Amino acid sequence: TKYVFVTGGVLSGVGKGVTTASIAMLFQSMGYNTTIIKIDPYLNVDAGTMNPYAHGEVFVTEDGGETDLDIGHYERFLNKDLSKKNNITAGQIYYAVIMKERRGEYLGATVQIIPHVTNEIKQKIRDVGKEYNADMVFVEIGGTVGDIESLPFLEAARQMKLEEGFNNVAFIHVALVPTLKTTGEQKTKPVQHSVQELRRIGIQPDIIVARCEKPLNDEAKAKIALFSNVPPEAVISNHDVNNIYEVPIILMHQNIHKILAAKLSLNYVEPNISPW
Ligand code: ADP
Repeated sequence: TKYVFVTGGVLSGVGKGVTTASIAMLFQSMGYNTTIIKIDPYLNVDAGTMNPYAHGEVFVTEDGGETDLDIGHYERFLNKDLSKKNNITAGQIYYAVIMKERRGEYLGATVQIIPHVTNEIKQKIRDVGKEYNADMVFVEIGGTVGDIESLPFLEAARQMKLEEGFNNVAFIHVALVPTLKTTGEQKTKPVQHSVQELRRIGIQPDIIVARCEKPLNDEAKAKIALFSNVPPEAVISNHDVNNIYEVPIILMHQNIHKILAAKLSLNYVEPNISPW
């Protein structure tokens, strides 16, 4: 099984969910059995108790899970039902760890974030892959790099690369590239800083997806590539479109699927998607 972790930089609501769903959809159309997990670093066990005005709709899965709205994006892009297991929250992780501790399952050990919480996270991710018999598991890590809450999840992702093998795990970082109104310039400094933050905790992104208003220009692309330590072709523009179902197409035209397939040593197959 291949694992693709998607992180977000600069601010939340930048388009990580749509980006993740789009890339997964491309691989599904290449014939790979694909599933997507959303990780939410909040301590609620599920989204059912959260204010929809603050957090958006509660998406109810076929098996009755009350999940994050991103699960809805995933179902619509992949055109298949997902389960409540596709939404992992920090609340579920801590709950499971504390229950195990109460049952004495840690056999006298001091229960810690590393390794007990990180092991629980890795286990839950791998379980989903097994359950769907997936070729590829996409994991969107909610929140923004640099948040205290998401650290254990990023650490678990880092460890998974080590354990699963370097060509079985890839990292995609989605970050905002703002445009200055006065000069029309695309500013890359926020992306640079968020990538630095990722590398500080041991994660080198393989692909950078820049969310911007207009298509990313070559100058900005080169700058992001240099500072993020990725080749320029691995810096992908995800500019504003009128209809989010165009996002897979604009990513595909920039060969994101070829770059990711090569990174994961997957056979390249032409995506079978009907143009619309
Ligand atoms: P995140 O997962 O980072 O919180 P989402 O993927 O939910 O962000 O996207 C936030 C909002 O931005 C959604 O309303 C989504 O439809 C919109 N959006 C995402 N990508 C694009 C795009 N390329 N063009 C226009 N709107 C987009």
